[in-house]
Amino acid sequence: MKAFIHPNKTRPGGCHLGQEYAVTPWEVKGKVDYLRLAREFGVQLITDEDVSLLKGLTGGDVHYLIRRGFFYAHRGFREILERARSGGSWALYNGRGPSGDLHIGHLVPWILTKWFVDKFNVHYFFELTDDEKFLVRDGYTLEETNRLAYDNALSLIALGFTPDRLHIIVDTDDVAYLYKIAVKVAKKLTLSTVKNTFGLTDSNNIGATFFPAMEIAVAFLPTELFNGETPVLIPTAIDQDPYFRLARDIAESLNYPKPATLYSKFLPGLTGEDKMSASNPDSALYINDDDKEVRRKIMNAFTGGQPTAELQRRLGGNPDICPVYKYHMLLSDNDDEVRKIYEDCRGGRLLCGECKLMLYERVSAFLNKHRELRERAKDKINEYKISVKFK
Ligand code: SF4
Repeated sequence: MKAFIHPNKTRPGGCHLGQEYAVTPWEVKGKVDYLRLAREFGVQLITDEDVSLLKGLTGGDVHYLIRRGFFYAHRGFREILERARSGGSWALYNGRGPSGDLHIGHLVPWILTKWFVDKFNVHYFFELTDDEKFLVRDGYTLEETNRLAYDNALSLIALGFTPDRLHIIVDTDDVAYLYKIAVKVAKKLTLSTVKNTFGLTDSNNIGATFFPAMEIAVAFLPTELFNGETPVLIPTAIDQDPYFRLARDIAESLNYPKPATLYSKFLPGLTGEDKMSASNPDSALYINDDDKEVRRKIMNAFTGGQPTAELQRRLGGNPDICPVYKYHMLLSDNDDEVRKIYEDCRGGRLLCGECKLMLYERVSAFLNKHRELRERAKDKINEYKISVKFK
């Protein structure tokens, strides 16, 4: 999901965890202990029982991003599953602060969201916060963030959503859908709560203090549009929890159902960080990276391998700390293939050079196809706009 990034990057809310690591909506530092992070945030872990319930609803299928524990925690996911079981309506919601640097990590929650849409045939609301990007980031004009919103939407459409299920909201164009809800949300949030949660100070512009109400408003929009209680499920990375904790806190006082969330770990940086970083372009694979650039980044990636081929054959590598393995795991839905990479690495039967080449081929095929589908989406983008479907 989009990150509401405060220009000063101050961080009073969220979760700072001593010396070892820090996770906030704006930054991830250090080696993340995901179990401890879930405890600190007060979110639930996805249990075997949750997975069984999900399986029962999908005819035995569970998406590999959940199966492999990449999505691992939640707030209220169980309630959504129970609701699905009893035939109640619900919807999906996530979004993005539009920018020109869309990378593979941004697509991962959308891939899972696509699976939910396909399995449950539910509506999906996607918010592009061109207002937020303009308000909190220096160097962007509103025209530019609006243009980027439509550009980023192409990648979403390229994943195969159909216009009867995906409804795209571009904040500055579609504010009429959100404003009445946002005003109600804003009245429930004190300035001190917003400053505390989002790290704002007296030097921020006043738009930055109102913006969280726009983001929370989408969580309540389906209930208004469908004239009946329609909670949303929000698949996103765990660093976005402070937003939706706030949304859940105020929902019932506004007679809306609490939004539920499904939280992922972070896609690691190729250069060894726990999360890809915009400040280090070599840590991420961007959708506009050509084959040469993708190959260069992957071949230079940090690995869990041994210093020499001979040692690798003798001792094996460590896929558990290896971003190359994690990319294989997140981009392949074939369990046997992923297991073989893991076991061959451990057993010294796979060298890092070969493994990186396999990843390069996987990523190159994915990105070339993705770019082609983005081109085709250009003619269709208006069909996905919320204003075309909901008057
Ligand atoms: Fe990583 Fe592959 Fe090398 Fe194993 S063989 S350490 S998974 S790059």
